[in-house]
Amino acid sequence: MSYVYPPSIPSVGIADRAERFAARRVYCVGWNYAEHVREMGSEPDREPPVFFMKPADALVPNGGDVKYPPATENLHYEVELVVAIGAPGADIDASAATELIFGYAVGLDMTRRDLQAHAKKHGQPWGLAKGFDQSAPISALHPADEVGHPSRGRIWLEVNGERRQDGDLSQMIWSVPEIIQHLSRFFELKPGDLIFTGTPAGVSAVTTGDRLNGGIEGIDTLAVTLS
Ligand code: MN
Repeated sequence: MSYVYPPSIPSVGIADRAERFAARRVYCVGWNYAEHVREMGSEPDREPPVFFMKPADALVPNGGDVKYPPATENLHYEVELVVAIGAPGADIDASAATELIFGYAVGLDMTRRDLQAHAKKHGQPWGLAKGFDQSAPISALHPADEVGHPSRGRIWLEVNGERRQDGDLSQMIWSVPEIIQHLSRFFELKPGDLIFTGTPAGVSAVTTGDRLNGGIEGIDTLAVTLS
C-alpha cells in the first residue's frame, strides 16, 4: 500500500501548443437548454442556474477509449461547450466575464441517468450520477484570442454515425457571461477551472462499443469509444 506519491495534476491539451492547461476544478451547469429541460420532465424558467461539480481527474483529454462505468444501466452522453478560466475573479459582472476566459473546448458530461433520477426523486446530491471516473471527456482547448467568444454555433453529437443531439449555442438559457456571474458569487474562479455549460436536447443511453462523435461549430470535435 502506498499513500505517498508524486503529485499528478490533471491537464488538458491546448490546440497547436506544447503547453497543457492544468485543470483545477470542473464546474457544470444543469438544465441550460429549454428543450433539454423539457425532455427531462421540467418546464424551463429563469430560476438561477443549477451547478454541480466533477473531480478534475474525471477529465479524459482528447477522447479515446472510455470505460463503461459500474453501477449504472442507463449511461447518457451530454455534449457541451466547455469554458476554460485563465484569470482569477470573484463576484464578476457578466459585462466583464470574458476577461476571465482563456478558451473553449468540446466536452461530454457523461451521466448515470438512473442514479440521477433516483437522487432527484429522493432529494439527494448528484455526485454519484455525475462525478464518476472518466465522466468528463474533453477536446483540446482553443484560446479565445483565436476562436473568439462564441454565443452561437451548432452543437451536435452522433452515436455510431447517427445524429442524436443537434442544437445551437444561442439556445442557452444562461449565456457564458451570465454563468460566470452566477458561479463567481459562490466560488472564486481561478486559472485551471473548467465550466461545462449544459447540453441541448437529444440525450439518450449508450452502451459498450458505441462510438460518440460530437462537435461545436468553430471550436472543435471530440470522439470517444465506450469500452
Ligand atoms: Mn450536463
